[in-house]
Amino acid sequence: MSILQQRLAKYTVAKEARAQGLYPYFREIGSNQDTEVIINDKRVLMFGSNSYLGLTNHPKVKEAAKQAVDKYGTGCAGSRFLNGTLDLHVQLENELAAYFKKDAALVFSTGFQSNLGTISCLSGRNDYILIDEYDHASIIDGTRLSFSKVLKFKHNDMESLEKQLSRLPDDAVKLIVVDGIFSMEGDIVKLPKIVELAKKYGGTIIVDDAHSVGVIGHQGSGTASHFGLENEVDYIVGTFSKSLASLGGFVAADHTSIEYMKHHSRALMFSASIPPASAASALAALRIIQEEPERIEKLWNNTNYTIKCLKENEFDIGHAESPIVPIYVRDNTKTFQVTQMLFNEGIFVNPVISPAVPSDASLLRFSLMATHSHEQIDIAIDKFIKARKLIGFGEPEEAVSAP
Ligand code: PMP
Repeated sequence: MSILQQRLAKYTVAKEARAQGLYPYFREIGSNQDTEVIINDKRVLMFGSNSYLGLTNHPKVKEAAKQAVDKYGTGCAGSRFLNGTLDLHVQLENELAAYFKKDAALVFSTGFQSNLGTISCLSGRNDYILIDEYDHASIIDGTRLSFSKVLKFKHNDMESLEKQLSRLPDDAVKLIVVDGIFSMEGDIVKLPKIVELAKKYGGTIIVDDAHSVGVIGHQGSGTASHFGLENEVDYIVGTFSKSLASLGGFVAADHTSIEYMKHHSRALMFSASIPPASAASALAALRIIQEEPERIEKLWNNTNYTIKCLKENEFDIGHAESPIVPIYVRDNTKTFQVTQMLFNEGIFVNPVISPAVPSDASLLRFSLMATHSHEQIDIAIDKFIKARKLIGFGEPEEAVSAP
């Protein structure tokens, strides 16, 4: 074995979980992605999807993808910068810019790359990037590719952010980068205070709206709109892989920034543009979100119903206030055990364990779609209650301390 292979062979987490029959990843779905999916010929209720509005099977979205393949083929065979820009990409960018009330937008190959490509190219060696400790991995990796100094502040803790900001030189660029809705905890960023601090200390704000688009704000247009702060957020980054039912991502901002990024963002310039079917389906979904507001209403109806039921049953759901509802188990092994038990009972949820979150914060990420029914939610919650009885987790305080 080479030195590298010897080192890799020491990686045991997946092996141990497999040996115990608890390995919960890469489950193969053999059907379309909706509130029910088929896995190994078994029908399970899907509560692990990011398709918040349930648009991946919308007839208009599918039709748009098919027509794009017929017109443009299956791929663009180049980057946006060179031969890979279609009129369809530009149309999508124009509609995104209008939707987010920004001058312009730029489409990247994924949401991950949108963060990499935006964050890495804006600030320089003597500048600072301030990130929430629970920001998404793509934000963290974006900061690693920049040459700026990176400072973390405590999750949604504005005192911690101010403490960091107040120490920085006046003339340095200070990028404050946050998730709009945090991807695992499901809480919403304290944007009004961030705007206040950015003004006080000369900061620039980037909000990653991956989980907010189609969920909060006017016609689902995200966190800035939710707080009426469209003019105060400098860059809105997002993805097509969640509410927009496709693959790809974007940044929306002022003309000067977008023009600069077109010529400096390496993740954009040196990576192929999204295929026609992806661009067309994202565009169709963007239009449907604006035309069918009842979808967002239904998503919130499901979200409020779920949060109410889980609270009534005394589950530990932290600061849940969005369609991402964390159900805290606070133990890695038990999190896997509950995931497996729920799966056997026909419920798909995503386990989130350390190092993705601290080990005393491991959780089941229960995510809602507009297309779920209350009946499906009831079934899932019943199974959670059953799993809690058998495995024992997140008990109400009194139950834990009882003899
Ligand atoms: N930002 C956040 C907050 C995310 O949760 C994700 C994906 N989970 C991304 C960015 C990356 O998006 P994509 O899947 O389109 O690469």
